[in-house]
Amino acid sequence: MGKPRVGIYGLTSCAGDQLAILNCEDELIELASALDIRSWVMAQSKNDETSELEIAFVEGVIGTERDLETLQAVRDRAKVLIGIGTCAVWGGVAAMKNNLPRERMRELVYGEKAEHIDIRKALPLKAAVDVDYELPGCPVEKDQFLTLVGSLLHGDLPEFPQTPVCSECKMNENECLLVHRGEVCCGALTMAGCGARCPSLNIPCAGCHGPVEEAYYDANFRALQAHNLSKDDIIQKMGIFSSPAWMPKVLVTDDLPGKGGDYAETH
Ligand code: SF4
Ligand code: SF4
Repeated sequence: MGKPRVGIYGLTSCAGDQLAILNCEDELIELASALDIRSWVMAQSKNDETSELEIAFVEGVIGTERDLETLQAVRDRAKVLIGIGTCAVWGGVAAMKNNLPRERMRELVYGEKAEHIDIRKALPLKAAVDVDYELPGCPVEKDQFLTLVGSLLHGDLPEFPQTPVCSECKMNENECLLVHRGEVCCGALTMAGCGARCPSLNIPCAGCHGPVEEAYYDANFRALQAHNLSKDDIIQKMGIFSSPAWMPKVLVTDDLPGKGGDYAETH
């Protein structure tokens, strides 16, 4: 196979994932020569929006009718569609207030002009189309993105470790911010991949990589409550990046008996 035809697209988002790709400065020329980039509005002025694509990378949420149309058109053209970034995978920051009626939000933000604004609930790509692979991160990690492209060029997909940020934090021999300082750290619930960047700088993890698979929500909630952290603080912090994925699980812990427990003792 020659160079795969590739499109890089952004729906409603901060465009941070496309910027993260542009920031692959040392590898950018190699990337551009290995891929036939047919469309990337952020990076080139001449774009082909009709030919079939081997690979489409899409960042952002479905937040407007136009987003939905763009996504469906890209899906129709692409053999492999990959969601990049936590917005595309989980809804991200844009989905933080999905529980508020859109009409109310439109009024609050745009006042009299609200009726002309098209804003719908912020949804991840998989809510509307089949997604072949997802790479979370806010933004995506450069190394993971390059590994993903390398695998795709070999007709494969990478398998990144499905472990929580805590595992990377422990490998960095950090003192636990939750256990030792009682801070709301979401590391145990968050997908690894960033090398525990924030706790390694003494900043609690805010969960920007989205939830790790099979997270033990109840135990984590108990561990946080054991440090006299209020439920509101915990929900607010955990809801920033992946609210739709986390909130139902957090809210079912509402009636947990007591505080603390074995997990808090042994973590
Ligand atoms: S809870 Fe936070 S500080 Fe503690 S080990 Fe996990 S990631 Fe590190
Ligand atoms: S430590 Fe948490 S908030 Fe910081 S980069 Fe990693 S996943 Fe994101």
